[in-house]
Amino acid sequence: MSANVLVVVEHLGGEIADITFEMLAAGRKVAAENGGSCFAALIGGTDAMVGQLGAADTVYRVSGDAFTEFNPESHTAALRCILETVTPRTTLIGHTAMGMDLASVVACTSDNPLAVSAVEISGGATTKVTAQVYGGKMNATIDLGAGPCFVAMAAGAMSADAGKIAGSPTTSDVAAPGVDGRIRFKGLVQPEAGDVDITAEEVLIAIGRGIGSEDGVEVANELAEAMGAQVAASRPIIDAGWLPKSRQIGKSGLKVTPKLYIALGISGAPEHLEGMKGSATIVAVNTDKNAPIFGVAHYGLVADLYEVAEELTEALD
Ligand code: FAD
Repeated sequence: MSANVLVVVEHLGGEIADITFEMLAAGRKVAAENGGSCFAALIGGTDAMVGQLGAADTVYRVSGDAFTEFNPESHTAALRCILETVTPRTTLIGHTAMGMDLASVVACTSDNPLAVSAVEISGGATTKVTAQVYGGKMNATIDLGAGPCFVAMAAGAMSADAGKIAGSPTTSDVAAPGVDGRIRFKGLVQPEAGDVDITAEEVLIAIGRGIGSEDGVEVANELAEAMGAQVAASRPIIDAGWLPKSRQIGKSGLKVTPKLYIALGISGAPEHLEGMKGSATIVAVNTDKNAPIFGVAHYGLVADLYEVAEELTEALD
């Protein structure tokens, strides 16, 4: 049995997604535990992308017009060809919209197990995974056995920096047929810009479910005004209709890297961290001292967000 790990590279609009680097970091660790190598599968990418994949021992490439844009049918066929060439023990794919189109099909058709929403992985005699269940409220430990398996990694659970190694990995071209199937790429529709571009702001006051009611938005607005900041939010605030979608941070929202990020009443779910953990300084206010947000915060206050926000606004005024 091969001891190797294959990481499926995700890219869009000429950019490699951060989840790829997170998986490369995890893949190298697991490959070392298995005594094997870490490979990357690049379908429809560019030469410039290969230079960013130095964390991989070899990059297996499928190129051609049929693979320029993401198409689940063509990309699945291409991934199958790479899997036949590499025969890895563990294949890492992003638990993303694109990744889930691939992972479920290749796992089912090869009759091998797939663990989704994985936040931790280890190799050795068998592949073991910690995966989120119930929308991230609980973690399950799964042993995928010693044979070939697929793991869909949750974005934001690991550091991308460790996988960002520039270099010149060996490349190997793999031939794959384009699929003239029923799915056609028509165009990429980007979300409309909102009233404020929170990705360009230097200071953000981010509110979460801890604000309890819509009145809390006003408290955050007052603090933001006093600080010259903008208000952003976790998903429950957007789902409740208290702020527009253009203010959502996270997996299904925007990714921000302000100089200062103040999280008020946000627990720090991986889907939220994915969008803000690159902020230069993170301050978290939460009544629960065990809230995961404190794991990424540079400064933390175990306190009521209303008391902190009102006191801070008053002091600044
Ligand atoms: P909670 O997890 O409910 O946390 C509220 C926090 O407030 C708690 O930690 C509590 O201790 C604290 N609190 C309560 N009262 C106070 C008080 N008075 N003062 C201070 N602290 C207080 N989430 C996102 O944010 N962005 C996304 O883009 C996103 N995309 C997702 C995509 C998918 C596919 C899935 C499955 C989920 C996604 N989520 C996303 C949801 C995510 O899993 C979490 O459910 C969400 O981030 C939780 O938001 P929260 O931290 O505001 O709420």
